[in-house]
Amino acid sequence: PLVLGIETSCDETGVGIVRGSQLLANVIASSMEEHARYGGVVPEVAARAHLEALGPTIDAALAEADVSLSDVEAVAVTSGPGLAGALMVGVGAAKALALALDRPIYAVNHLVGHVGADILDDAAPLETPTIALLVSGGHTSLLLVRDLVSDVELLGETIDDAAGEAFDKVARLLGLPYPGGPEIDLAAIGGDPAAIRFPRGLTQPKDLAAHRYDFSFSGLKTAVARWVEQREAAGEPVPLADVAASFREAVVDVLVSKAIAACTDLGVPRLLLGGGVVANARLREVAEQRADAAGIALRIPPLSLCTDNGAMIAALGAQLIMAGHGPSALGFGADSTLPVTDIQA
Ligand code: ATP
Ligand code: MG
Ligand code: FE
Repeated sequence: PLVLGIETSCDETGVGIVRGSQLLANVIASSMEEHARYGGVVPEVAARAHLEALGPTIDAALAEADVSLSDVEAVAVTSGPGLAGALMVGVGAAKALALALDRPIYAVNHLVGHVGADILDDAAPLETPTIALLVSGGHTSLLLVRDLVSDVELLGETIDDAAGEAFDKVARLLGLPYPGGPEIDLAAIGGDPAAIRFPRGLTQPKDLAAHRYDFSFSGLKTAVARWVEQREAAGEPVPLADVAASFREAVVDVLVSKAIAACTDLGVPRLLLGGGVVANARLREVAEQRADAAGIALRIPPLSLCTDNGAMIAALGAQLIMAGHGPSALGFGADSTLPVTDIQA
């Protein structure tokens, strides 16, 4: 089926078009620059930006796919989780589109959408079961996906800051601009990742009992702040490259260790990465090394499918249709806390 997908859960306005598992268009407008002066995503700014960008983004996606609106056979939209006001813009537009075209609508889960993106990489169906590690500015989640359209379980998630958020906050305290991920990467060039042993959150034996697959990055952020403060108080220079490289190593180490532990504990020989933090080359490198050593097949979709996008939402909609699932009833609304077990609203 030809499916148009709409994604507005955070700061990316994404519209994607797929035909079954084939990617036809993936157009993204981001309000990232507008948020930069505030040092993070501002919900009201994001919602207004979606309203302005959605129409032109739909037009651009149709042009890129070389199809017209009447060719669209189903509409898919992110109904949650995410920022309520931002989600509402996409949900409203998708409903209007489905009604006007008289087409079925599929309200889908953003996090599961990240997993659904995998199929567009090589048009091969997702091999299951798989563990999925989703890391972005808003999420740090470890999922057990037994079946993309019917059985997804949340193994763990961050209990405070998301991994991307940690990059953003640490960049800020180091005097670097937003978004912090790429800035920390730049600052870390030439730095020694072993220079400072920053804490690995929730990896101590006492934490593992209750939080084996959960993450915590706020203690790490505080540790970096304290380390820098102490240096400055002592009148010593702050070795920015070492701090950045050591901080990044701490984040990457915990993310990869817990993901690999989930694979080995549960006997799942596959790991999929998703989310904007996948842009981090050190994360990809360490994941590759440790997956390889553990005999785990690692999947990393191209970055354009890892960051928030509409194509992954269209892909999940198409896979629901192909699996015989019916459309969502039009009464659904935006649900900012939609649990990952609700693959379709
Ligand atoms: P959501 O959480 O809803 O998926 P988001 O907009 O916060 O939305 P993305 O757009 O997927 O998430 O990713 C943005 C985040 O990724 C930011 O926090 C940014 O700092 C981080 N990021 C981007 N590049 C890198 C990098 N090279 N290293 C680490 N983090 C990065
Ligand atoms: Mg974003
Ligand atoms: Fe996302």
